[in-house]
Amino acid sequence: MPWQPPSPIQIFQLLPKTNCGKCGEPNCMAFAVKLVNFEATLEACPPLIEDLKLRPIFEKLKSLLAPPVREIELRGSKKIVKIGGKYVLYRHELRYMNPTAIAIDIDDSMDRENILKRIEIVEKFEYDYVGQKLKLDAIAIRSSSNDPKQFARIVQFVAENSVLPIILCSLNPAVIEAGLNVLTPPHKPLLYAATKDNWREMAELAKRFEAPLSIASPGNLDMLVSLSKTITEDIGLQDVVLDPGCFIGPGGLSYTLKAYSWIRYKAIYDLWRYVGYPLIATPIAVWNYLKSDITEIMWWEAIMALTLMTRYADLLILHSLEGWTLLPLVMWRFQLYTDPRKPVAVPPGLREIGKPDENSPVLVTTNYALTYSIVSSDAEKSKVNAWLLVIDTEGLAVDVSVAGRKLTGEKVREAIKSSNLEQKVKHRILILPGKAARMQGDIEDATGWKVVVGPAESSEIGKFLEKIWLPEKLKELTA
Ligand code: SF4
Repeated sequence: MPWQPPSPIQIFQLLPKTNCGKCGEPNCMAFAVKLVNFEATLEACPPLIEDLKLRPIFEKLKSLLAPPVREIELRGSKKIVKIGGKYVLYRHELRYMNPTAIAIDIDDSMDRENILKRIEIVEKFEYDYVGQKLKLDAIAIRSSSNDPKQFARIVQFVAENSVLPIILCSLNPAVIEAGLNVLTPPHKPLLYAATKDNWREMAELAKRFEAPLSIASPGNLDMLVSLSKTITEDIGLQDVVLDPGCFIGPGGLSYTLKAYSWIRYKAIYDLWRYVGYPLIATPIAVWNYLKSDITEIMWWEAIMALTLMTRYADLLILHSLEGWTLLPLVMWRFQLYTDPRKPVAVPPGLREIGKPDENSPVLVTTNYALTYSIVSSDAEKSKVNAWLLVIDTEGLAVDVSVAGRKLTGEKVREAIKSSNLEQKVKHRILILPGKAARMQGDIEDATGWKVVVGPAESSEIGKFLEKIWLPEKLKELTA
């Protein structure tokens, strides 16, 4: 039986039922609906948190809403990354929580200049895609020296120079301990990894330092489950991450994919406790398996990472820093982790294209992320200086928002007011997308501004403004 969300009534029965509104909702039932849709958290109900007598109720609600795949937090000096917390096998059943974190490796035998360079690339990596900033998340420090002192020096150096969460990688508990000793709060690193040979020492370290622990059993799922059972049940660690191994070569990728899928299936469909933890994948392993051309190795690393991000890795460790390997990954992650029930939206408001002033044209568009991204990039490409008034159409594209009455005169009036547009421009002319032509009268009536219908395709904005944004034409328009 797969995981099922609790019903709003089930949740409502446990809430304080005072309808006090402190959660921002009109009543407890509305809050219960938000909770089961994962649009609010229990912490938003102050009475539940503040009244100690309600603690058992809070815990009961927490367990009813808990995901079958545990959520685990990794902390760097300034950045927190959450992994796992998954409820469903397929994104259309709800949505995937906590996008797969991407970690890039640093080896403790690298010189400091090289390490700084890698940290800089990782931290500065940023791709602006439909209004979102796509970034990398963590740094995995590998001990190739197997020397605790050397590892500790490099861990300290990375911690001093990076804000990102750290993954400490070695199968030698003495090396991991040396790394842990130099990390101070707020750092909460992930330890990689406990195996059938070192699990006692690793689990003891994870417990002592309150750090999450990876359990690795490449190619042996029975052993992985058995280690997970022992470490979580007998030793009492709950923050664990599982690694069934990454293989390449004949049958390797196919086995790997099946192993990750089997674990996630068992966690969500059969609610197997011992596999209900985030999955870590190490596509970086291809650098050991393959001895071919470096481009081919990077290509395989990217293929493996993309495949396992889709099924069902919550954290990836990679080596390559090439844009052509990382870009497809962050873009695919963005697509995979958007909520399929909601259009992707950007915040509404007034944006600048180039260097607009009080005489610059005002273009109107909607806050559907793709529309906004195309319009702003077309306007930038045409080298115009303009204001872009982004209307809150609940993430709908222009034609759909006109049909659905989301782009209305009233909405445009509110946007003009909240953006202070009247103080920014001297004229009173709005340029409406061609696909919203039929709203011209409605917007003129609601705003008192002259509305000019612009091109249907934003690629024509430059040519359109060249023809229309001329002093004599403006006089004509406002006459
Ligand atoms: S804050 Fe809590 S008690 Fe008050 S209305 Fe919201 S859910 Fe109900």
